[in-house]
Amino acid sequence: MDYQSAQTRVQELHELLNRYNYDYHVLDKPSVPDAEYDQRLHELIALEEEHPDLKTPDSPTQRVGGTILEGFSKVEHKTPMLSLANAFNDQDLRDFDRRVRQNAGEDVQYVTELKIDGLAVSLRYENGYFIQGATRGDGSVGEDITENLRTIHSIPLRLKKDFSIEVRGEAFMPKRSFERLNEKKIELGEEPFANPRNAAAGSLRQLDPKIAAKRNLDIFVYGIGDPGETGIEKHSEGLDLLDDLGFKTNLERKKCQSIEEVIDILHSIQEQRNSLPYEIDGVVIKVDGFAHQQQLGFTAKSPRWAIAYKFPAEEVMTKLLDIELNV
Ligand code: NAD
Repeated sequence: MDYQSAQTRVQELHELLNRYNYDYHVLDKPSVPDAEYDQRLHELIALEEEHPDLKTPDSPTQRVGGTILEGFSKVEHKTPMLSLANAFNDQDLRDFDRRVRQNAGEDVQYVTELKIDGLAVSLRYENGYFIQGATRGDGSVGEDITENLRTIHSIPLRLKKDFSIEVRGEAFMPKRSFERLNEKKIELGEEPFANPRNAAAGSLRQLDPKIAAKRNLDIFVYGIGDPGETGIEKHSEGLDLLDDLGFKTNLERKKCQSIEEVIDILHSIQEQRNSLPYEIDGVVIKVDGFAHQQQLGFTAKSPRWAIAYKFPAEEVMTKLLDIELNV
């Protein structure tokens, strides 16, 4: 594409993606299917690669999606809460593996985890007590939703050890609770939520914690904000530590020696996806060793030591074929 057409298209994509992000992250009401959002984002990434000077700091490729709702206090994240780069097929994963090994050496190991489709939250504990919970927000600053998070029974209010620690996890609405909630909403003549992810996000960003308390939310904790403070050396050890402290982690995690092993695992997870009691939209692959993670570092938006393999959205793809893609 020539420079001028690329410039025009980049501008259009900024406007579209900013609007989609607002509807999804602020209103909790997506206006297009995820696959369509992902497709546009990748079109923008490709144009920015072709014409690097069209990549501006305010580009949707450079920013973590959300913004802060009025009415909540702001929480500054000590360690940024970033997004994840995406892989859509086996080749993307092999390319990721090649980049990882080039930069961190051949002895890397991976951990695979389910990519829970909910809302990223940060939980802070001081001397073992839960003192603050926040949304990811724009990655640097999130919303203080402590009182709503206190209503989730699987979040320990007191840890098994007197640790001061900040952890990250995905708050979500189990499929069954989502179905019940939407049945009730329809009965009351209210608009149902589009999916469990938006229902969870909408519930946690209510100013009245009594509403969140009624929504049967749950959480899987998947990481430590600053693992350097704990003395452990691997992400997998961090997950075991989180178990020991009393957090609910997802046990469907596996350590892998090679990317081919990772690929086998994620194909088998994809087959079991529908039988899980909660929604997943993919599998997250993380480099296990913190020393290797440090060597790989971060882009503006995501760590270079992790990638999210997104499952193809079959039902959405069929719909997508019917709509005009060139807006
Ligand atoms: P992402 O959802 O692709 O990945 C990052 C998130 O994964 C983390 O913030 C965390 O919340 C979550 N996660 C779940 N399990 C995890 C685990 N085990 N380890 C680490 N993280 C885990 O990126 P994003 O920036 O949050 O949002 C982009 C997603 O939102 C895409 O899927 C996109 O399709 C969708 N989206 C859709 C629209 C729309 O209009 N439909 C708009 C914006 C974004």
